Amino acid sequence: MRQRNKPWADDFLRENTHLVIPSPSEHRGKWQELFGNNNPIHVEVGTGKGQFIVGMARQYPDINFIGIELSKSVIVTAAEKVQDSDQKNILLIQENAENLNEIFMENEVSTIYLNFSDPWPKKRHAKRRLTFHTFLKRYETALSPKGELIFKTDNRGLFEYSLVSFSEYGMLLNEVSLDLHKDHDPENIMTEYEEKFSAKGQPIYRCKAVFRGE
Ligand code: SAM
Repeated sequence: MRQRNKPWADDFLRENTHLVIPSPSEHRGKWQELFGNNNPIHVEVGTGKGQFIVGMARQYPDINFIGIELSKSVIVTAAEKVQDSDQKNILLIQENAENLNEIFMENEVSTIYLNFSDPWPKKRHAKRRLTFHTFLKRYETALSPKGELIFKTDNRGLFEYSLVSFSEYGMLLNEVSLDLHKDHDPENIMTEYEEKFSAKGQPIYRCKAVFRGE
């Protein structure tokens, strides 16, 4: 994700703590209270500029969406989109997903989305991939028993790696699409990267997986 230095980002974050939540670990186990309802919580890891989370929040008003994004200059763009959308069912967190279990209690999350995660193609960087087993452990802990991990990417290498990582971890694959747009899911909401890569004719891969069977 292209990151421009945004000198106004700190001021924006200070003034918009209702959109980008500071000290997120203080809300561990209590996120529904912050939304003011008992709706399920879906988390997007690596939210980027926010197109997916805003689209999903519009499509599913009875779900609470939380976006986690590492980069300050990227998350402020997502926060502006959330503000413009006027959706009340979205909150953002500027954090490293490594800290997921300090932010969410066991079983607190119903669905986790990984969209166009950085591929980290070099073998020595494998542990940075968001589908490396250490991240899967974090997702497993945060997800409720039937909670789903939904992963989309244009990167064939990362997709293949991730399918192997999921099955080595013992996860069950509910769906695998090797060309999501051809398979046509009318409920699919496109991310910024998805629009960019599919416009170039690249297939989009998607996998839905769970940690525990029935
Ligand atoms: N999901 C968006 C999309 O599909 O358009 C953005 C994709 S971009 C390639 C990956 C994003 O994930 C970047 O904005 C990056 O800062 C964020 N990211 C990477 N590693 C992360 C981590 N460990 N925790 C939180 N965000 C992360």
